[in-house]
Amino acid sequence: YKAKSQGLSMAFFSHEMTAHATEMVDLQSRLRGALNKGLIKPYYQPLIDLKTGEIMGVEVLARWVVEDGSIAPSPAVFIPVSEETGLIWALSEAMIAQAGRDIVAWQNDGVQMKYSINVSARQFADDNFCSQAIEQFERLGVDPKTVQIELTESVLLDNIDRSLEKIQELKARGFMIALDDFGTGFASLHYLTLFPFDTLKVDRAFVTNIIEDKRQFSIAKSIINLAHDLDLVVVAEGIETEEQRKVLFDLGCDIGQGYLFSKPVAPSFLTDLIAA
Ligand code: C2E
Ligand code: MG
Ligand code: MG
Ligand code: MG
Repeated sequence: YKAKSQGLSMAFFSHEMTAHATEMVDLQSRLRGALNKGLIKPYYQPLIDLKTGEIMGVEVLARWVVEDGSIAPSPAVFIPVSEETGLIWALSEAMIAQAGRDIVAWQNDGVQMKYSINVSARQFADDNFCSQAIEQFERLGVDPKTVQIELTESVLLDNIDRSLEKIQELKARGFMIALDDFGTGFASLHYLTLFPFDTLKVDRAFVTNIIEDKRQFSIAKSIINLAHDLDLVVVAEGIETEEQRKVLFDLGCDIGQGYLFSKPVAPSFLTDLIAA
């Protein structure tokens, strides 16, 4: 009985694997096509200064613009695929090129904002990443002081000494560094003292039920206080309701991001939002 059940589960597993592999190959070739056609585009989600209610910056988020009315794959799907296949380089270059043009256009219009850019594990692990990103931004005429790099804990833990060197190099050039999705990874609090972060982004997991769940409230409150004690700016991700905004503001959270304020939008739409 045991052998048979194991055999069955093996067969099932291998079928799943094949399906996954086929799906990956399919997605990979579609992603390559989309990149060639310029269909991976930066969208911008406002970051709101909770004291003034004004847009103080935006997070740059990759969107796959589909032409045929089909459902666009989400970055939660295509970013990992691009990492596994090496397409992340082309994707990142396309994102920075387009975002750079938008940023320069806003700069020329006198818009003063911060631009937060996500960098994933494989990008950051590559020793050329920092110099390439720095060079690309400089070539486009973007002031590094307006750019914040968002990193997650897992990105940093791979090689702590090397990560620290890279962060120091980026900071020496003027870039700011944010720790993204804080509270969901495995990193110890010790890393908050090890790396010179500017900003800490409280993961949506602690915001979603902050009203209903006393424990989420306590964790959000503690993270905000801890971050402030360490002189970090705190951003809360995933604010969807006015109640959540109010509670986070009362806890002293500096910046809010979420559907309550705006979803990620196309650049022309952001220009309208800023004007309004
Ligand atoms: P992230 O960096 O944590 O980005 C925040 C995610 O939360 C975004 O998902 C955003 O659309 C979503 N979000 C914002 N406000 C709300 C809200 O009120 N409710 C809910 N339910 N969600 C909200 P998105 O755009 O799907 O991106 C997913 C992840 O993919 C990002 O998480 C980031 O890790 C990665 N990613 C996106 N664009 C890029 C990129 O250009 N490069 C790299 N390396 N990674 C990217
Ligand atoms: Mg992010
Ligand atoms: Mg995040
Ligand atoms: Mg996230």
